[in-house]
Amino acid sequence: MTQALDPTEVTLPLVEIFETVEGEGTAAGFPTVFVRLFGCPLRCSWCDTTYSYAPHRAEMTLTINEIAERVSAYKAIRVCLTGGEPLMYRERSAALLNALAALAHIVDIHVETSGAIDIAPFLESVASDKVRYIVDYKLPTSGESGKMHLPNLECLRPQDELKFVIATDQDFELACHVLETYRPDGTPLFSPVWGEMEPRELVQRILERGLSRVKLNLQIHKVIWRPKQRGV
Ligand code: SF4
Repeated sequence: MTQALDPTEVTLPLVEIFETVEGEGTAAGFPTVFVRLFGCPLRCSWCDTTYSYAPHRAEMTLTINEIAERVSAYKAIRVCLTGGEPLMYRERSAALLNALAALAHIVDIHVETSGAIDIAPFLESVASDKVRYIVDYKLPTSGESGKMHLPNLECLRPQDELKFVIATDQDFELACHVLETYRPDGTPLFSPVWGEMEPRELVQRILERGLSRVKLNLQIHKVIWRPKQRGV
């Protein structure tokens, strides 16, 4: 991933760019600009952003510089690069990350990635400490657990996060197994599937199992706004 791309010419398909507060992860609650790229190679059963891939269409196509300009128009100093799968455009995704990292006022860029894309090339080609990865490890209920790129677990750094979206006992047990087997760096996040596992039930399991490194991850945007509301 070494090819230099011209940010004034290279384009990416997008769904939306908007400012809100981050709803998840260790940056939850901070004002954040969301950059949602279009497209995803997975089809998780509980996906709540189905509008970000086919048969829907991209809402716009912008150059990398145009995306950076739109991000700069907001006051937030944090960016969430999400999708869909924001890393599926490989060199173009990396070029966007480098352009966002070059914005002086931005202090944190967290990338929500599906776990199916190798993050190692991005760790090499995107040198900025501002950029962190939130890898979503897909569990059996998603229907996509077979697509996980397991070497990602060894790439995670302390500033990264490993998210497990949990709907069932089987999901919970596999999440525990992954943590015990790979002992990844990065903060493990356990997130209940909205409407399928009660948060209190997940809390009880975390405490019973003594998972003292695990952080409960609630999607606070679904509490603040309607669960299916877009652009918030
Ligand atoms: S990886 Fe994310 S965007 Fe893609 S189908 Fe799964 S939940 Fe939806």
